Amino acid sequence: MYASLKSLLHKILPQKSLFKHELFLRSFYAMFFIGNNYQCNICLKKLRSFKKVGEDKLCPSCGSLPRNRRLWDILNKSYLKDSMTVLDFSPSRNLYRVLKKKNIIYTASDLSGHFISDVKYDITNISSADNCYDLIICYHILEHVINDIKAMDELLRVLKPNGTCIIQTPFKDGGIYEDYSITNDDQRKIHFGQEDHVRWYSVQGLKDRLEKTGFEVNTLVFSEAQTNFNGFDEEETILVCNKPSNA
Ligand SMILES: [Zn+2]
Repeated sequence: MYASLKSLLHKILPQKSLFKHELFLRSFYAMFFIGNNYQCNICLKKLRSFKKVGEDKLCPSCGSLPRNRRLWDILNKSYLKDSMTVLDFSPSRNLYRVLKKKNIIYTASDLSGHFISDVKYDITNISSADNCYDLIICYHILEHVINDIKAMDELLRVLKPNGTCIIQTPFKDGGIYEDYSITNDDQRKIHFGQEDHVRWYSVQGLKDRLEKTGFEVNTLVFSEAQTNFNGFDEEETILVCNKPSNA
């Protein structure tokens, strides 16, 4: 029911109108989930349960996914600093809302037109000067990009020395799996898990590519109980990439 309602609203409301009224529309649905067992750390609503959508635990109030909530948690604890410059690629609407309220210079970019954004940068040719961002968020982007090496070069170029780029993609075990002869949506879904994905990364494979580009990479691995209060994923990996001062 949730998926069909969402699909209907996307069809009948323009994106900007949906963004404007989303929290109001969600507030009716979220009433069924009010409780004290869990809390979304993004919208701060207390919940009886998260909404199960496939394998994901969605916040019925703001629509956040577990990976959005984890990212918000680590950003607040370790990375966001007043007045810093932040570039974010295709952010979720729930994170866009709260990041816009922070005392930072926040730019959201989306080339596809599917996400709320301020600019439309091509990640393989970013329209920004060298060394201009303190922090870049690149979540679930690189698995869509054929020329990912060029994208990594660009992320490094526009990041300030000692700046940080936080990266996540879907991961599998083993090495990177990519085959550019596969261009058909159905085949891509079979081979790479989604119609618009062009590869599967492994954690080590992505780390190697980023290090070859010139980043220093730290791998954050999280492990949680299934019933954790903020509905984080039980297992999650994030790559934190720093631009060396001499890069
Ligand atoms: Zn929420």
